[in-house]
Amino acid sequence: MTKNDILIGSHVSLAGPDFYLGSVQEALSYGATTFMFYTGAPQNTYRKPIEELKIEEGRKLLQENGINEDKIIVHAPYVINGANSTREDLFELSKNVIINELQRTAAFGCSTLVLHPGAHVGQGAEKGIECLAKCLDEIFANDHTNVRIALETMAGKGTEIGVNFEQIKAIIDACHYKDRLGVCLDTCHVHDAGYDVNDVDGLLKQFDEIIGLDKLLVVHINDSKNPRGAKKDRHENIGFGYIGFSTLYKFIHHPLLVNIPKILETPYYNEKPPYKQEIKMLIDGQFDTNWRDNI
Ligand code: FE
Ligand code: FE
Ligand code: ZN
Repeated sequence: MTKNDILIGSHVSLAGPDFYLGSVQEALSYGATTFMFYTGAPQNTYRKPIEELKIEEGRKLLQENGINEDKIIVHAPYVINGANSTREDLFELSKNVIINELQRTAAFGCSTLVLHPGAHVGQGAEKGIECLAKCLDEIFANDHTNVRIALETMAGKGTEIGVNFEQIKAIIDACHYKDRLGVCLDTCHVHDAGYDVNDVDGLLKQFDEIIGLDKLLVVHINDSKNPRGAKKDRHENIGFGYIGFSTLYKFIHHPLLVNIPKILETPYYNEKPPYKQEIKMLIDGQFDTNWRDNI
């Protein structure tokens, strides 16, 4: 398998002055073949007008480098919560923010938006799932793009929903627009939620039996700072956490995941992005225990 056959990248920033052009340049500097970005700050819902984001320049550079923009991923801001059944105003806000994000995703030429399912805020997972499915139905009824929403598997912090494959399946089943939904599997999150990610084949088999591998649109490749089942959601650099290099390497090269973008969301080390080295190691299969000292 050559490097260009592997769909691997990291999250990159979308910052001025070059915005999307800068995002593409950043991804290329890591040797990535795809990437993920937020169309504004992940922590808030303020969004700069699409016209100011140098999208055409970025898309031209993608084309010149043979990168398939259909595999580039957008991540929705994580402050929204369509699963909160206790606050009508927040439900409406979440809905409108996601409708706007779908349009923005399409404006970049992308077709997948990753969404954290949200938190049931004490009302129970069943109620949260029902609320989110209603939110998604209202979103898709008012959206005319063909962008799919990939529900991310969550670690189980607080009252999060989507913490196991059954809950993700229940959200999809409760939504009327099933074709518009898919899944983002995050290795750190499923490990923290209690799954044995080191058994990669077993994990994918379970995913296939419960949700169906045809629904898998993105894999987030992160090591974890905490032991299995800790419900913490703290990402670690590749090979420095409780999951380990060889398991994450298996995800990158797994035959069932060839066409699925694999995205790193590991932390900066000494304020520097680790992605160039992490991508290289995950492609080559050589883990250098001192790599963080050389970035
Ligand atoms: Fe996420
Ligand atoms: Fe993630
Ligand atoms: Zn996370």
